[in-house]
Amino acid sequence: MTPSRNAFTVDLEEWFHICASGLDALDPDHWDRLPSRVDLTTKLLLDLLDAAHVRATFFVVGWVAERHPGLVAAVRAAGHEIGSHSHLHRRVYELDAASFRTDLRASVRALIEAGAPTVTMYRAPEWSINDRSLWALDVLTDEGVRIDASMAPVKLVGSVRYPRYPHVRSTRAGPITEVPPLVADRFRHVMPIGWGWGLRMSSPRRVLRTIDAANRAGLPAVLTVHPWELDPHPPRVRLPARLQFAHYFCLGGFANRLSEVLRQASFGPIGDMTPVSGT
Ligand SMILES: [Zn+2]
Repeated sequence: MTPSRNAFTVDLEEWFHICASGLDALDPDHWDRLPSRVDLTTKLLLDLLDAAHVRATFFVVGWVAERHPGLVAAVRAAGHEIGSHSHLHRRVYELDAASFRTDLRASVRALIEAGAPTVTMYRAPEWSINDRSLWALDVLTDEGVRIDASMAPVKLVGSVRYPRYPHVRSTRAGPITEVPPLVADRFRHVMPIGWGWGLRMSSPRRVLRTIDAANRAGLPAVLTVHPWELDPHPPRVRLPARLQFAHYFCLGGFANRLSEVLRQASFGPIGDMTPVSGT
């Protein structure tokens, strides 16, 4: 198989998997009573990827895999790769090492039961492996995870000091490859042009130019989306301002913009990405 230049990734979760501690309506105890949108929105995303001939890495929340094993099977059948996006979608830095390990194991068990062959890739909810939780990389490596995609090189959830491209980090349990999401410098800030509001508000042309600049420097770009970003009728919930922006800003027309990006650059799952020096 020809290695892909860039990686396309998906955090497969429900619309209510928002890290908002203190927001009672979104407490895990209430999740089973909230309307589920994940089947519909993931199928929209699978169709979009299929039309663009793109295979991707899906980081799946274990709680979702337990309730929708058929969805995990559909993702696999379409040729996509499966990783873990935790079990209960909690921020890693709000856990301790023991509860993080328990949550990781629960998610891996749910993914294997839903048909995933092995689980060696992980992405933390809300990019929550940062300076407050670097111990998590030791736990991941110790549990057999070889690729982590949880550290964002932006200020709000990570640090602008983090490397912007795949690199190997050493942990007490051995090496782990860290695969960060694409960012760009704009208006004297680092902007998440490869995911979230940054990807949704940018024109396909600007996103493609940023990807091209990375590729010309011999580096891969990593993009990521959530199924709920494609929901034609997203359920609304009142959130704190920052989360409101991250969750709802520029959803209109996003499927079309995303489609254009997918068709005009070369993407594959993380496992097929062209290795870069040091990995
Ligand atoms: Zn998430």
